[in-house]
Amino acid sequence: MAEHCLVLASGNKGKLREMTAMLKPLGWEVRPQSDWDVPDAIEDGLSFVENALIKARHAARRTGQAALGDDSGLAVDFLGGAPGIYSARYAGEGAGDRANNAKLLTALADVPELERGAHFYCAMALVRTPEDPAPMIAIGRWDGRILEAPQGEGGFGYDPLFWVPGQACSSAQLSPEVKNRLSHRGLALRLLVEQIEEEQGG
Ligand code: IMP
Repeated sequence: MAEHCLVLASGNKGKLREMTAMLKPLGWEVRPQSDWDVPDAIEDGLSFVENALIKARHAARRTGQAALGDDSGLAVDFLGGAPGIYSARYAGEGAGDRANNAKLLTALADVPELERGAHFYCAMALVRTPEDPAPMIAIGRWDGRILEAPQGEGGFGYDPLFWVPGQACSSAQLSPEVKNRLSHRGLALRLLVEQIEEEQGG
């Protein structure tokens, strides 16, 4: 029986499913912010953590419940960490995955394999109240490198360009189970769950 309610500051159904699976056993019912008609927050932070926190505080303020915000993206070494927090709109506002990937390949044209290192990051922030002075923060990182051409049909975003060294394939070629086990998002969620369990004394 769920005891506490946690608002997810996102409308993404996949994220809702993953969070519910991991948090329900701990007594948390996860509900999307759309249940309260919460409009999107203005993400004007400069880091994944700042944006995750902005989203969480915004959802907590609008709903009066504890809230969880997350932010993720790809940081490419050769590009000084770009596209970073702008990953979703790298090729412009409203740009799709195809345009973003094409822009990334152009930016890395002729860059040798050893200099194509890249990292997916995911930050999660949980606030108990809108002004919570001690939010729970978890960050997951996934290391790889950018391919010279897309590979694989699965996943989303930059997955077809993200080579996963330990698996010898792109992240678009991994099953959802394996991707969750290895990915920045899976790791951040597990680290957050550890903190919740610790706070609950479990
Ligand atoms: P959001 O945090 O879900 O808004 O994701 C931001 C953007 O980062 C996405 O639109 C993708 O372009 C990229 N991104 C984040 N996580 C992944 C991933 O697991 N695979 C591929 N792209 C990702």
